[in-house]
Amino acid sequence: MPSTAIINVGTLISGNIQQPILDADSILIENDKIAAIGLSDAQIKGASQIIDAVGMTLIPGLIDSHTHPAIGDYTPRLNVVGWIEHYLHGGITSMISLGELHVPGRPHDPAGVKALAILASKCYRNVPRGSVKVMGGTLILESGLVEDDFREMAKEGVRAVKFIQAIEDRAEAVQFSKWAKKHGMRVMIHCGGTSLPDVPTTNAAGIIEVQPDVLAHLNGGPTALSPADIDQLMRNTGWTVDLVRFGNPKALDQICKMVVELGAHRRVILGTDSPTGNGVEPLGMLHLITHLASLTEIKAEEALCMATGNTAKVYDLPTGLIEAGSSADVALIDAPVGSIAKDALESFTIGDSPAVGMVMIDGLLVVKRSKNTIPPQRNYKLTTH
Ligand SMILES: [Zn+2]
Repeated sequence: MPSTAIINVGTLISGNIQQPILDADSILIENDKIAAIGLSDAQIKGASQIIDAVGMTLIPGLIDSHTHPAIGDYTPRLNVVGWIEHYLHGGITSMISLGELHVPGRPHDPAGVKALAILASKCYRNVPRGSVKVMGGTLILESGLVEDDFREMAKEGVRAVKFIQAIEDRAEAVQFSKWAKKHGMRVMIHCGGTSLPDVPTTNAAGIIEVQPDVLAHLNGGPTALSPADIDQLMRNTGWTVDLVRFGNPKALDQICKMVVELGAHRRVILGTDSPTGNGVEPLGMLHLITHLASLTEIKAEEALCMATGNTAKVYDLPTGLIEAGSSADVALIDAPVGSIAKDALESFTIGDSPAVGMVMIDGLLVVKRSKNTIPPQRNYKLTTH
């Protein structure tokens, strides 16, 4: 069985917000899964491949909680061909779709949105081992869908629905949310001002009415809700808070203060909200984590868990954690060359976005060295037996 021992890890980030840093310096990967943490000499010697991390920081592969992937290469809204490959070089091994908004001529009728959700979900599920894992096929809710549609989509693998369009009949909107949950799908809702010509502005009262699971870009997309509305959603609900790189920085600051005040770290997930409109930013997740760690009271290791294990938990993904049985989707990161920081966590904390040394998906070494970040201060050593 192919196996990899990663040894001499300086800091081991778990992805688990309850215990962000693990007291161990090595992990064993067998096939596509993490098999053990903290290895004996015999386990290290028995591995078919050894990666000496020379003190670098090992993290679960980042999960971008907010993306808009396309299908195929023709995307008239924006030229967004090949961006997922670049995000991989920013340490991202998984991403969540909040709707395939770039599909040319995207349908708005019930049959069309349903077909697109099923197609996108299946297309992204069928990618080869070692590809970035996209949870695609989030249904954009449209008036006229019936419960059988939700049942069929759930059966075919659609795992989430999103409110962005004006569903004028509020009773229908509330019903959609209930049907989605009944059939095991997550309910996401656009928070804040309109971001597309045909998307309405939302407010806290309208959001609370439909009882979502995920407050998508609560810090704005990029126009944010009012501070009073944000306050209400933070204090009076326990819903997942999706914070995005391309949001409103003032709202981000308000929410981070409230997360610390309320001890609501486990509710937060991090994403980019790209490429729609905002463009492609391969290092967007690293920059957002750096923002949180350097300018708010949230610690770097906590922000890393928000960007990994928290998101995996919300969407039931078998990744995002350094623990036995989890998918071997990991990255080695370090302070970048030229930084006064001595390791990745210090680098985040002082505001220098760290360097990505290598990235593994399903135990396969898919990025040997990031082409997007500044080089790391240390270089890992790979030995194959
Ligand atoms: Zn979005």
